Amino acid sequence: MRLVDSHAHLDMAEFDADRPDVVRRAFAAGIVAILCPADLTRPASLPTIAGLAAEFPTVLAAAGVHAHQAKDFARGHLDELGRLAAAGAIRAVGEIGLDYHYDFSPPETQREALRAQLAFAAAAGLPVILHSRLSGADIIAAVDAERFGRGGILHCFTEDWPTARAMLDRGFFVSFSGILTFPKAGDLREVAAKVPLDRLLVETDSPYLAPVPYRGSGRRNEPAFVVETARVLAGLKGLAPDALAEATTRNFAALFPFEMAPAEC
Ligand SMILES: [Zn+2]
Ligand SMILES: [Zn+2]
Repeated sequence: MRLVDSHAHLDMAEFDADRPDVVRRAFAAGIVAILCPADLTRPASLPTIAGLAAEFPTVLAAAGVHAHQAKDFARGHLDELGRLAAAGAIRAVGEIGLDYHYDFSPPETQREALRAQLAFAAAAGLPVILHSRLSGADIIAAVDAERFGRGGILHCFTEDWPTARAMLDRGFFVSFSGILTFPKAGDLREVAAKVPLDRLLVETDSPYLAPVPYRGSGRRNEPAFVVETARVLAGLKGLAPDALAEATTRNFAALFPFEMAPAEC
């Protein structure tokens, strides 16, 4: 089975003690690529991800300013994104977006940071990794306002079907996290079952949201665990886990072409 973890925060301190081992453990479990979004407002984030990407060719880096940190977003971050894009150091802008659940930054400030980074990504020709929590309508509005047509990933999807449909219509892939395995996530499973196979992705959002059966007692999530989310998604789509894995890996490779190591082919 070949799987991709389309979203893992391997820059976080939770991985300081064993970061390369976490990646090797994922590869041993059949994960062939991991997309890691760095946050430009946290100084150690990008160097950590860049170091990992240099060590492991199928660890792909992205960068942006998260909705939570939108209050710290500044023009200088766009300059930094410009340097990174010109150097080929990032494959996407993200994660960026809106989060009206936590409201760590004022909604208007979040929308401004999102719009500015969408405009940058459009000009740079890069896909985006979008975060949306209780903000689906405004995410769609921002994508439309910027006439953003490059597509990308709506990650850790928790919104409703109309939001998924609208983002699919705008060329986005929809990525599901370990939440899909939670007992109370019946509504989300119904949405996932409706997303076309050629637009589905899976992710861990490590170190958060460990899937069942790893969930509980604050256990750290890691990319190897994406297998469990893929298994549930396969069941929802009426597919064998291998077939779901191949489809999601193909989807990811369509968005982010990557070279698989010979041993993994
Ligand atoms: Zn997110
Ligand atoms: Zn994230």
